[in-house]
Amino acid sequence: MQTRSAGGSGRDSIQLITQVIGPWGTNAYALVCSATGQSLLIDPAGEPDTLLAMLERSELVGILLTHSHPDHIGALRAIRTATTAPIMAHQENPASYVDRPLRDGDVIAVGDHTVRVYHTPGHTADSVCYAVESDNRAIVGDAVFEGGPGHTSSPRDFQVTLQTLRHVILKWPDDTVCYPGHGPSFRLGDKRAAIEAFLAKDHGDFCGDATWEM
Ligand SMILES: [Zn+2]
Ligand SMILES: [Zn+2]
Repeated sequence: MQTRSAGGSGRDSIQLITQVIGPWGTNAYALVCSATGQSLLIDPAGEPDTLLAMLERSELVGILLTHSHPDHIGALRAIRTATTAPIMAHQENPASYVDRPLRDGDVIAVGDHTVRVYHTPGHTADSVCYAVESDNRAIVGDAVFEGGPGHTSSPRDFQVTLQTLRHVILKWPDDTVCYPGHGPSFRLGDKRAAIEAFLAKDHGDFCGDATWEM
């Protein structure tokens, strides 16, 4: 487990805190508004005491899921019970625990800041990314990693992933820093050429774990 912080120097800033949790090294993120102390937790992966310690000097106003895979929600009920913050997830998430179903384009407030929801299906039907508005940071879940797109379990899902890369993620500015569900963050502009080359290839009926180089 390790903690990393990015941004958050001035009073009008929003701080992003990362905790790496569990056997799959899932990244749990907190966005904290410096001026108001309000926070969002994105992917309560596990280790609830660790996550509550990460949030202890803030007022949690929402628990956001990038998608519903088990390695991203291990502490969901514990955090919900401890904080009463509402659970938000894409409307394709079938679970009964969702308090606020999200759609593409929805906006979530945290203190003086807002986070925009992008529906990015492929890895799962309910995959979303959360981009901080007026900022260059986006929490992207398992939609896209530094080395390739998220795992897909059918050729149809892989084709959906290609559409998401082409029509959603590559539309973002080069300066966007993507914070994925596993592994390090990366600047989109540094990967754009590799992603475009990947999209230009014929992958046939492939599905599974892909790399940009394949
Ligand atoms: Zn996943
Ligand atoms: Zn994952």
